[in-house]
Amino acid sequence: MADLEQVEARAIELIDRYLPGAGWRFRWDNSRRRAGVCIFDTREIHASRPLAVRWNAQRCEQVILHEIAHALAGPRAGHGRAWVRVAESIGCRRERYDDAGLARESAPIVGCCPNGHEFFRYRMPSGPRSCSLCHRGFDARFLITWRRRAAQ
Ligand SMILES: [Zn+2]
Ligand SMILES: [Zn+2]
Repeated sequence: MADLEQVEARAIELIDRYLPGAGWRFRWDNSRRRAGVCIFDTREIHASRPLAVRWNAQRCEQVILHEIAHALAGPRAGHGRAWVRVAESIGCRRERYDDAGLARESAPIVGCCPNGHEFFRYRMPSGPRSCSLCHRGFDARFLITWRRRAAQ
């Protein structure tokens, strides 16, 4: 588990190194759905406190590098080529920290179709859903069974 004070100190150090004098600041937030965010309007890089406490310092640093890469690449870059180039140049290993990976790890609702495809949701779906991997469009043969898993 990461020491949040150390994570914050490291974040400030990385911001100073890669975004010197550009007025960027670090902030904690309480998101459980995304590890970090880059807010261009206010020049803030946020990291999620509830997720950071579960992760080690290395992973927290990756989250911060991911957001610094957004700040460097600009708001239009998305996760496209320009962003990837910047992210790699500052030592960000992007593939392990995408939103789908985060949902797989932390979303409380897990669904499974009869053929074993898994789905991850933050809320219990209201009506029946069928597996989009087994069949495009609704098909009652491939209904997803949802369950709530223990908080982690
Ligand atoms: Zn991103
Ligand atoms: Zn399926």
